[in-house]
Amino acid sequence: MTNVTFISGLKEIGGTFVRVETDGAVCLFDFGFAVAARIDPAVRLRAESLAADYARLGMLPREPGIYEPAAAAALGVAPYAGAGKPVFFFISHMHIDHMGGLDMLDPGVPVYMSAESLTLYRRLVAQGDITMRGHDRCIGVPYGGQFTVEDITVEVLPIDHDCIGAAGCRIRTPAGTLVYTGDYRFHGFHPERTRAFAEACRGADLLITEGVTVSNGDVDMLSLSEPTEPDRTEYTLLEEFAALAREEPGLLVVNYYERNVERVWRHIDNFAAAGRTLVLDARLADYVAAFYPQARLHVYGPTIHGRPLRPEWQVVNRSALLADPTGYVLQLDYADSYELLDLVPCVSRYLHADGAPLGAYDASYAKLLELLKAIGVPYDYRSLGGHASPYYLRWMADTIAPRILVPLHSFRPEQVASARAGCRILPQAGQTITL
Ligand SMILES: [Zn+2]
Ligand SMILES: [Zn+2]
Repeated sequence: MTNVTFISGLKEIGGTFVRVETDGAVCLFDFGFAVAARIDPAVRLRAESLAADYARLGMLPREPGIYEPAAAAALGVAPYAGAGKPVFFFISHMHIDHMGGLDMLDPGVPVYMSAESLTLYRRLVAQGDITMRGHDRCIGVPYGGQFTVEDITVEVLPIDHDCIGAAGCRIRTPAGTLVYTGDYRFHGFHPERTRAFAEACRGADLLITEGVTVSNGDVDMLSLSEPTEPDRTEYTLLEEFAALAREEPGLLVVNYYERNVERVWRHIDNFAAAGRTLVLDARLADYVAAFYPQARLHVYGPTIHGRPLRPEWQVVNRSALLADPTGYVLQLDYADSYELLDLVPCVSRYLHADGAPLGAYDASYAKLLELLKAIGVPYDYRSLGGHASPYYLRWMADTIAPRILVPLHSFRPEQVASARAGCRILPQAGQTITL
């Protein structure tokens, strides 16, 4: 018997939480927050009861066997190790809507992820870019590797997304094989990974796929044909930024998303070839150094986060940027935006490359635009995003051709369709499919 229960994150983007239970074990994935809009940074967190608080707000599941005794008691469920079978997690990637709840697990719960995701997670913890506390019992699995817990074997397969370390998984159980994509795209640095994922997973019994890009407009997925124009890709962005580096008359300021570490690393050489030095803040430099220890990094001198500078980093001060604005690109986190007030005479453009605040749903987005308007810095939106366009969502499902297709992680999962899937199920929260 294999029961697959769809608990949350089905008709929203975030909080995907699925339980796979066999006679021998329970496998859970992922563990971000559902209805994350309920988080208000103006409300103080209660460290001693955060797991129970978030579960009672509906942001985390009331799941037995994963919380510490006090939280479990408050929720009326069995605590970790109190539910009988061994329980473990697989986390697809380090975006907060897939891993934000790790802080709130019982410290004993084993959590598997790709080895690169574990590297990133350790840096997120070290930098304090998590809610409260790191989860120590994380196990990194190399891409292509697998692990077994009782009668469940999980293969960790690379997939391309705008977050370093992203992986999907194939889960083998005695009753059948399930595939979970996590988030994916075909316009990143490694489209071959996403294609190889689909090829490797052909013929699965159950495919669980994301459907972010069909969330808004109407899409008739079955009638789509392959786009004739190539998508704008990470490689297009490299060209766009190189052209700007050559043509712009002043300092370029870029707001990157720090978990897309490979992009930042590639942009260092890309800007260098166009005659500019990319200057990072100490926080982002730490992420890049964790993955690319040989990279020669230039770091902004005013230690805007109060974080330590390492001796091997080349320090660049504000006066250097002011003296030679066309020689540099400054990476600037939104939180450090007031630094612009001292640079404004020489800034020619603010490039928004997927960093926070990402869009109008974030109250800070309007404030960012207002700030730039107030100081007269042109705003240039250069987002790429991390999700496959609708045709390619169908390509994934068509290629795997599963017996059962379950789309989720979308406001309109009913728009994800494939004529090659045996059937499609749009589960209600709490619904179980038995393989
Ligand atoms: Zn993601
Ligand atoms: Zn996601």
